[in-house]
Amino acid sequence: MENVYDIVIIGAGPGGLAAGLYAARAKMKTLILEKDKTGGQIVTTNEVANYPGSIQEATGPSLIARMVEQTEEFGAERKKDTVMDVDFTEKIKVIKGEKEEYKAKAVIIASGATPRPIGCPGEKKLTGKGVSYCATCDADFFTDLEVFVIGGGDSAVEEAMYLTKFARKVTIVHRRDELRAAKSIQDKAFKNEKINFMWDSVVEEIKGDGIVESVVFKNKKTEETTEYHADEEDGTFGIFPFVGYKPQSDVFKDKIELNEGGYVITDADMKTDVEGVFAAGDIRVKSLRQVVTATADGAIAAVAAEKYIENNF
Ligand code: NAP
Repeated sequence: MENVYDIVIIGAGPGGLAAGLYAARAKMKTLILEKDKTGGQIVTTNEVANYPGSIQEATGPSLIARMVEQTEEFGAERKKDTVMDVDFTEKIKVIKGEKEEYKAKAVIIASGATPRPIGCPGEKKLTGKGVSYCATCDADFFTDLEVFVIGGGDSAVEEAMYLTKFARKVTIVHRRDELRAAKSIQDKAFKNEKINFMWDSVVEEIKGDGIVESVVFKNKKTEETTEYHADEEDGTFGIFPFVGYKPQSDVFKDKIELNEGGYVITDADMKTDVEGVFAAGDIRVKSLRQVVTATADGAIAAVAAEKYIENNF
């Protein structure tokens, strides 16, 4: 079985890279596929304060760079390709990429999740033109400008705090009158003088001709709508939606069991309902989506995949 990998891992975020490290270290012929840039969502985060061992200067990109180095050291192969389809019906699994077709004895799905859009008119058209889903990548464009952050979870509040290093004023727009974010994160935000809050409000529309010029907010309690226009001198402002994530599992629909939200169902050994197919990281049904849980999933999935191969090939 010359052209058959032992393990193909789909996705090179922390879950996929940890799986790659464990698989390659166990001398499995391992391939990690990534459609985008290596690292997944964590490379869009400037601060990783809650991964054990990561200290002040640890950023998402620096943590990922070290993980990549480790997987390479143990001999895991990495390729940039987008998975378009999979065939899990036979013992040898087939992964159909945009560029190539890959065969494997076992597959680990670690394709993660992507930011969920607000879904209002103008959002798509103005993405990259004032609307951004990555504070680390784009904060610099908004130096001395105003910024609105949409959402009330950990991501929204943490990214809002990061944005205060650049923007003149940051307003968190939340659809309720209390935040969902962890208390420790909330406390820091309430103390930050650059952060303002707009409660009970949602974004109805984002407007602009080639660049964000105004945004329409609706107060959910009073039903009142207000249009906020860019300061004349600024000409624009930023909108950063952080309203949750959606799993990147479309390609696995009808191939493995997913829950109603599209997340992959696994057991404690990361096994899906298909023999030889495992999942790790944010793509899974789980209660805590963090780097530390993704890497743990990756390790467990790789060891389970190795055992599966030993017993079945
Ligand atoms: P999240 O916890 O699902 O929060 C999403 C926020 O967006 C909620 O406040 C929600 O409002 C709001 N929302 C959802 N749909 C909306 C819509 N259509 N319009 C306006 N607002 C909307 O997502 P997240 O903050 O991205 O976090 C995802 C996961 O990553 C969580 O498990 C989180 O703990 C974790 N995370 C952890 C850290 C950390 O520990 N440092 C950092 C980032 C993320 P409601 O509150 O009303 O539902």
